[in-house]
Amino acid sequence: MPMHLEGSCRCGAVAFELDSHTPVPYQLCYCTICRKTAGGGGFAINLGGVSASLKIKKGKRSIGVYRAEICDDDSENCETSPCKLSTGERNFCTKCGTALWLFDPTWPELIHPFASVIDTDLPQPKAKVHLMLRYKASWVKPQIGRSDETYDEYPKLSLKAWHRKHQVWVK
Ligand SMILES: [Zn+2]
Ligand SMILES: [Zn+2]
Repeated sequence: MPMHLEGSCRCGAVAFELDSHTPVPYQLCYCTICRKTAGGGGFAINLGGVSASLKIKKGKRSIGVYRAEICDDDSENCETSPCKLSTGERNFCTKCGTALWLFDPTWPELIHPFASVIDTDLPQPKAKVHLMLRYKASWVKPQIGRSDETYDEYPKLSLKAWHRKHQVWVK
């Protein structure tokens, strides 16, 4: 049985639930989108869930969707490097601004709630993965644990593969 997760925004307008095979909050993303929209500490933590299991229990009409513009390189000059609209749909509460989850139709079976909105007790990660470090804010000094892994961009293992490797995948 996958783990059942309950989540909500800060003001209570939105409440949801979903099932997750990959509930360990180990993946810290320092990219500009995550850290600005959901990352008070300089990063956001994305979990993996089963998109078909998502139930919005309350507040469907209070949910807004943000699609970020992404540029191919670090240059802020979009004339030489056209920016694209991300396929990722970042859902948030329009009443209080809480970032809720990311859904990307490219991988329709998955959904990525932010660990910060989950009310269910999550398992504590024994090791963490720090990703997108090349985009981190200069004031952020990542706390890298002895068993942690760090990546300038995407990590080697998917959420599923990482959970399997660490024997914490919830069947
Ligand atoms: Zn809210
Ligand atoms: Zn990110």
